[in-house]
Amino acid sequence: STWWRRVEPAPKDPILGVTEAFLADRHPHKVNVGVGAYRNDDGRSVVLECVREAERVISGNTNMEYLPMGGNQTFVEETLKLAYGDESEYISNNKIAAVQTLSGTGACYLFAKFQRRFQSNSRVYIPIPTWSNHHNIWRDAQVPQRSFHYYHAESRGLDFPSLMDDIKNAPSGSFFMLHACAHNPTGVDPSEEQWREISYLFKIKNHFAFFDMAYQGFASGNTEKDAEAIRIFLKDGHLIACAQSYAKNMGLYGQRVGCLSILCENELQALAVKSQLQQIAGSMYGNPPLHGSLIVSIILTNPDLKKLWLKEVKGMADRIIDMRIALRENLENLGSSISWEHITNQIGMFCFSGMTPEQVDQLTDRYHIYMTRNGRISMAGVTTGNVRYIAEAIHKVTR
Ligand code: PLP
Repeated sequence: STWWRRVEPAPKDPILGVTEAFLADRHPHKVNVGVGAYRNDDGRSVVLECVREAERVISGNTNMEYLPMGGNQTFVEETLKLAYGDESEYISNNKIAAVQTLSGTGACYLFAKFQRRFQSNSRVYIPIPTWSNHHNIWRDAQVPQRSFHYYHAESRGLDFPSLMDDIKNAPSGSFFMLHACAHNPTGVDPSEEQWREISYLFKIKNHFAFFDMAYQGFASGNTEKDAEAIRIFLKDGHLIACAQSYAKNMGLYGQRVGCLSILCENELQALAVKSQLQQIAGSMYGNPPLHGSLIVSIILTNPDLKKLWLKEVKGMADRIIDMRIALRENLENLGSSISWEHITNQIGMFCFSGMTPEQVDQLTDRYHIYMTRNGRISMAGVTTGNVRYIAEAIHKVTR
C-alpha cells in the first residue's frame, strides 16, 4: 500500500528557515540573531565549565542501564528545589508529582496530554504572542486553545489591563499557560507587583496556572529572582504545574533534560498523578535519557560545582544585559529618532524590536542580518564585535 503518497511536506519551522538562509550566505559580516541559543562574545556556542567538570566525573561511569520511568530521582529533587525553593515543604512533604522529561518541550507536551486525559473538556489560554511551539504542543495533545492579551505593541511592554480583563473574563477554573520569566518572544515580563495581582485574580477565579520556565537564571542572572512568579503563586496557595528546562541555563540544549511537576494536596494524590505521568511518558518514549540528568545531578549536589554553575548563568545573563545596553546606546548615538528604551526594559534572551516584517527583510537582504520576521532579535547573537554593525543596519532600515 502507498497510503503515504498523499502526505504533503509539513510547514517549515520559521527559525530553521532563518538558520538555513544564514548558513548559505557567504558575506563576511553576516549575523545570526534568529536562533534562541546562547553564544559567547566571539559568537561561539558554549559548554559551561561546570558541565565539563561533571563530564569528567561521569567518564568513569560505565553504567548504561535504564533510568526509572520517572527519571533520575536526585535530578528531580534538585530540580524541584530550583523552582519551589530549597526549603520548600512541598518537596519535603512529597506533595509534588514530578518526572524527568525530554527538556522543556517534553514537559509541556506531557502536561498537555495529562490535561487532556484528566480534564478532557478543558481549554488552555495562551498569551499572544508566545513561543510558537506552544500552539503545536496543545494542538497535538488535542486541547482547544484560547488566547489572552499580553504584549502591547505601542509601548513594546505588557498590556496589563487587557491581560487582567482576559483573566477575569475566562470561565472559572480555566487553564493558563504562563511564561515564568524571560517571556519568549517578547522579553516582556510582569513586574513583581503585577504578578501579585495576577495571582490574586487567579485565586478569585480558581484558575489553574501552568508555568513554562525555560529560562530560569537567564533573565536576571539569579535563579531565585527568576522563580519569583512561581513563589508568589505558591505563597498564595495555588496548586501549580511547572515545566523546567536545562537547555538554556546549563547549555544542555541537545541533551534534552527537563522536568514536569504538578503540586498536589497530599502525598497520595501526588503518587497517583506521578504514576499517570509515567504511564503517558512510558507509551511515548519509555524512559528518559540518562546522560544529561547525571550532569545536572552532579552539578547540583556538589556545592562547589553548583556555585560555579550559578556564576556561569549570571555570566551569560550579564553578557546579554550588556549587549542590550550597547545596542541601545549605539542606536541612540547614531541619532535614531525612535525610542529604543524597550531594548533595555525587556529581559532574557530576546528583544522584541518592533521592526516590521519588511524592515526585517531589508536587514537580511541589504545587511545579511538574519532573524525571524516578527522582529525578534536573539540578544545572544549580539557581540562586542558586531553590535555597531547591527545598530547601523537597524538605524538605516528604521529611519
Ligand atoms: N518554552 C519556551 C518559552 C522556550 O522558549 C523554549 C525553547 O526555546 C522551550 C520551552 C523548550 O526548550 P527545550 O525543549 O529545549 O527545553
